[in-house]
Amino acid sequence: MRETGRFAPSPTGPLHAGSLVAALASWLDVRARGPQARWLVRIEDADTERCLPGMGERILRQLADCALLPDEPPAWQTQRTAHYEAALARLQERGLAYPCGCSRKDIDEALARLGQRHERHGERVYPGTCRDGLHGKPARAWRFATEKFAGGEVCFTDRRLGRQCQDVSREVGDFVLRRADGPWAYQLAVVVDDADQGVTDVVRGEDLTDNTARQILLQRALGFPTPTYLHTPLVRAADGDKLSKQNGATALDTGTPAASLAALDTAARVLGLRPATATDCTGALAAWVPEWRDLYNSRP
Ligand code: GLU
Repeated sequence: MRETGRFAPSPTGPLHAGSLVAALASWLDVRARGPQARWLVRIEDADTERCLPGMGERILRQLADCALLPDEPPAWQTQRTAHYEAALARLQERGLAYPCGCSRKDIDEALARLGQRHERHGERVYPGTCRDGLHGKPARAWRFATEKFAGGEVCFTDRRLGRQCQDVSREVGDFVLRRADGPWAYQLAVVVDDADQGVTDVVRGEDLTDNTARQILLQRALGFPTPTYLHTPLVRAADGDKLSKQNGATALDTGTPAASLAALDTAARVLGLRPATATDCTGALAAWVPEWRDLYNSRP
C-alpha cells in the first residue's frame, strides 16, 4: 500500500502554534518516506456546530503560506456523510451499535445509583443504561457496544510515546457514534476517513492519544487496517496548560514569507528539530526531512 499521512484540522479556528506542529510533523513524516508517499489534508467539519464558516479555506491558505501543500485536493467531512451512514449501518447490522435515550442528567443519575461518579477528562463514563433497550425514551444518540465487541483492553505502540493500553469498556464506556440531532462523532468519522483515504501513518497532537484505543476498536469492528500512530509534543501555554483559544492560542501570522518561516521554525523546535538556516519555507522544510528521519525513524 502507498504510504499515506494526513493532517486533519477541525475548522473551529485558524491554524495556531499547536496545530502547525501537527501539520509540520505529518508532512515531514510523509516526505521522509520518499517521493511515492502522499500527504493529505482533511477538513474535519463533521461536527458542524463547532465549525466556523470560511475557516477551512483559511487553514488551507495558512498551510500554503508555509509551503505545506497537500498532494491531492483536500477532503471535507461534510461531503462524506454517506460513508459514515454506511459504516454505522454495518455496525447496526451486527448489533454493535445501539440507540441510547439518556440525557446527561439521566447518565448522572444512573451513575449516582451505581454509587459511581465516574468521570474522565470531564466526560462521564457511560454506564450502559440503554444496552438492553431505550426504556421508553426517544433515541438521542447511537453508541458503540464496546463490551459486546471486545470487552477488553486495546494496546498499541505509539512511535514516540511507546506502548499505550486502554480498557475502553471500563475507562470510556460505550462511546457515541452519532448524535440523534445529526452530527457524526469524531471517532466514527475519523476511522472511516482514514480507511477510505488509505492512511497508513497517523501523526497528530498528543492531546488525541487518548482517542486512539477507541479508534482501533472501531477499525477492528469495521474490518479496517490499523495505521501506525505518532503523537507529537504539545505546545504549552505560559501557564503550562495545553494551548487553546481560551489561553492564548492566537492565529498564526503567515502574512509574509518571513512570518511563515518564523512560525514553521517555532513548530520545528517543539519537534526537536534544529533551527532553520534556509531563508524560505521550502528550503527549511527540505532541510528538516532527513533530520526527521533520524529522529523518528521513518522508513525511507
Ligand atoms: N480534527 C482533529 C483536531 O483538530 C484531529 C483529528 C486527527 O488528527 O485524528 O483535533
